[in-house]
Amino acid sequence: AKELGRNNYQLYTESMNQKVFQRLDIENSLRRAVEREEFVLFYQPQIDIRNGKIVGFEALLRWYHPDYGLVPPMEFIPIAEESGIIVSIGEWVLKTACMQNKKWIDSGLEPHLIAVNLSARQFQQNNVVEMIDRIRCEAGLGPELLELEITESTAMQDLDLTIDVVNQLRKKGIRVSLDDFGIGYSSLNYLKQLPIDTLKIDKSFVRDITANSKEEAIAKSVISLAHKLNLTVVAEGVETKEQLLFLKEEGCDKVQGYLFSKPLPAEEIEKMLREKERF
Ligand code: C2E
Ligand code: CA
Ligand code: CA
Ligand code: CA
Repeated sequence: AKELGRNNYQLYTESMNQKVFQRLDIENSLRRAVEREEFVLFYQPQIDIRNGKIVGFEALLRWYHPDYGLVPPMEFIPIAEESGIIVSIGEWVLKTACMQNKKWIDSGLEPHLIAVNLSARQFQQNNVVEMIDRIRCEAGLGPELLELEITESTAMQDLDLTIDVVNQLRKKGIRVSLDDFGIGYSSLNYLKQLPIDTLKIDKSFVRDITANSKEEAIAKSVISLAHKLNLTVVAEGVETKEQLLFLKEEGCDKVQGYLFSKPLPAEEIEKMLREKERF
């Protein structure tokens, strides 16, 4: 049934009219998706490059639409963002991720960091810090086990606001990571003004890393710059051993990608943690 749903979804995108209709339709179903419990979080391990240990997870949103089947985040997150629905979806994501992380700890597993993506809209809400800290607190999760990922483009929209919000989160003991680094309009100069903890090198750089390419040079200099600023560096989208080797040689701190694991449902992550803590 899920396969059929997916085919339907593709047929549906054919004409312009249908596109507009489909967009409204998605918007309407998005509004009800939280209460209808159509969202699920998947988790992708983040690995300490030095010893292969799982040190954290990134929570990634999945939507099972009753007619279309699994809708990829790229198809609905931009719509949720534009319509503002992302604010309530984002609260659900944060709450679910914090509660899941707490549950793993309560079941006797070693504590891990949970990284949650924050959209630009959420980040610009004027009570964003209170919202995050309240949800974290209600879940009973230590602030040091939560990390928020904001993209470089979100951060750059209003640098003063970003510095202020990141500082407030820091004061609460919550970490902040700069996601998709390298694809935006990065003036490396603003980095030193941002009190973040972590820099995530975008997977477009990781993909072309081995070929003696520009990407390789960029990845190298991003890692060394980040370390000079005392930031932890995470490389995302690591798919090959060659990429891993290069990143290891350059001193990247953590890696995330299909080479280790795809994003998986909570039950499969729990199984993984019980069977092995090391790659
Ligand atoms: P992102 O934050 O950059 O997340 C990383 C994406 O790379 C994920 O795609 C992940 O599944 C994928 N990925 C991980 N390892 C590999 C790999 O080795 N190779 C390749 N090719 N891809 C890999 P996903 O789950 O489809 O999410 C896409 C984007 O949707 C995310 O990009 C993020 O921008 C957004 N997103 C996902 N969940 C949330 C959420 O809860 N809130 C918000 N605001 N955005 C979200
Ligand atoms: Ca992310
Ligand atoms: Ca990313
Ligand atoms: Ca990305």
